Amino acid sequence: MTGDWQRIILHADMDAFFAAVEQLDRPELRGRPVVIGSRSPRSVVSTCSYEARVFGVRSAMPMTRALTLCPHADVVEPRMKRYAEVSSVIMEVFDRFSPLVEPLSIDEAFIDMSGATRIFGPPRQMAGSLRQAVKEATGGLTVSVGVASTKFVAKVASDMNKPDGVTVVAPDEVTGFLWPLPVSRIWGVGPKAQAQLESLGMRRIGDVAVRPRTELAQRFGVHGEQIWLLANGIDEREVEAEYEAKSVGREFTLEEDVRGRPAIIPHLLRSADAIARSLRRSNMTAGAVRVKLKTADFRLLTRQGGLPRPTSSAPELMAVALSLLDRFDLSCAFRLVGMTAFALAPLPPQEDLFLPAEVRRQRKLDGAVDRVLEKFGDGALWRGCDLPRGNGDDK
Ligand SMILES: [Mg+2]
Repeated sequence: MTGDWQRIILHADMDAFFAAVEQLDRPELRGRPVVIGSRSPRSVVSTCSYEARVFGVRSAMPMTRALTLCPHADVVEPRMKRYAEVSSVIMEVFDRFSPLVEPLSIDEAFIDMSGATRIFGPPRQMAGSLRQAVKEATGGLTVSVGVASTKFVAKVASDMNKPDGVTVVAPDEVTGFLWPLPVSRIWGVGPKAQAQLESLGMRRIGDVAVRPRTELAQRFGVHGEQIWLLANGIDEREVEAEYEAKSVGREFTLEEDVRGRPAIIPHLLRSADAIARSLRRSNMTAGAVRVKLKTADFRLLTRQGGLPRPTSSAPELMAVALSLLDRFDLSCAFRLVGMTAFALAPLPPQEDLFLPAEVRRQRKLDGAVDRVLEKFGDGALWRGCDLPRGNGDDK
């Protein structure tokens, strides 16, 4: 092993996740070009299998174009609930490797494994064990892993040997790894910034790194400094596992213990409603959910999983919570039921026009519910299937 590993950060990213899940569940799709999306004329490709990428099909491409490139592709409607279910299995595998896991989306996460070499061996071996564990837990899905001492380099690295690959960048290999890459690989460099950098003669990351830091700062402000730091492999950001300030939770200690799924669900719904409202009040979205149950004899059990997309909507939180519920042993009595939403991020400024109609409808409804509750107080509205109040105390 070369270099002085101050930190060991893994970025794990599932390969063609939605398409891979479909190929896992439906063996007849294996080895076939699979395009996830709908056939409707305005649809875009959500994900596609590597067999489809050979034909030039890519995510976010209009479906009509994808089918021109690859007319014999199998178009499969996305099954978000199923992907969320698999996501929670994957995130749970990650949790076995480190308490510091930061999910970035439904199928990728940073995992801080600093100081874990005694248990898991050197970085390449850690990545190997993680990939093996994901494969076993999911029944065959592959994940690509980048390992480095910073988040930025780990994330770039995970993309280098896709699919089913590992890229380890030791601290003394960082500049050799980063500098030949195009500037578009730097976080925060979109097409516009890329064009500006290129017009100044900076096509590769190394071209940025060797310029004076002050030049980047003068031309692009704080953003320019950030670009310069990343180009030099400097990224102090830590892997942020869920912790109180970065999560919103609601739990209920029950006056009488509950048993069985139907008795637990109403309390989860109340949690989801309260969390969703709190998220919307602060203009935040959550990327993942954790369900918490405490048994009558005070054992604390938790399961967590990623959301198909960042959300502040109770039904979307609830869909994941319900799939998590399947992974508890519900045969005993519980005295506490709760839910925490984490992986929080600010709500994007504009409404996503590509969201399915039912999601946009739900968001409108959420807004209306919020307004009623603001005006008349928390007791004003309850979902049809909620228990009468008084069967628990908010904490
Ligand atoms: Mg992925």
